[in-house]
Amino acid sequence: MKLWRKPLDSDEKKPPQGRVHILIERCKGCGFCITYCPKDVLESSPDFNRRGYHPPVVVHPERCVNCGLCTIICAEFAIWTTPVEEPQPQPQT
Ligand code: SF4
Ligand code: SF4
Repeated sequence: MKLWRKPLDSDEKKPPQGRVHILIERCKGCGFCITYCPKDVLESSPDFNRRGYHPPVVVHPERCVNCGLCTIICAEFAIWTTPVEEPQPQPQT
C-alpha cells in the first residue's frame, strides 16, 4: 500500500508486525486472503491439501502488519494472525 504523503511521525513509529497462522486442511483455495492482503505476504501454494485445494503460503513474513484483513475475509476460519511483540529493554541493575 502506498501512502500519498509521508506521515509526520513515521521516523519515530514502527508498524506492528504479525505472525500468520494457516489451517491448511480447512482452506478452500478461494485466494481472497492472497488477493486482498495489502502487503503481499501470501501466495498460492503449488501443493494441494486433502480436499484438493491450493492453500496460501507465507512468502514474505516480515511484511505482515497484523491488520487482520485475511482473518476477516476468510469464510473458512482457516487463517489468522497474532502480534509479534518487540523485545522490551531490560532494566539496568
Ligand atoms: S494480517 Fe494483513 S498484512 Fe498480515 S497477512 Fe493478513 S492481510 Fe496480510
Ligand atoms: S481466504 Fe481462507 S479459504 Fe480462501 S484461500 Fe485464504 S485461507 Fe483459504
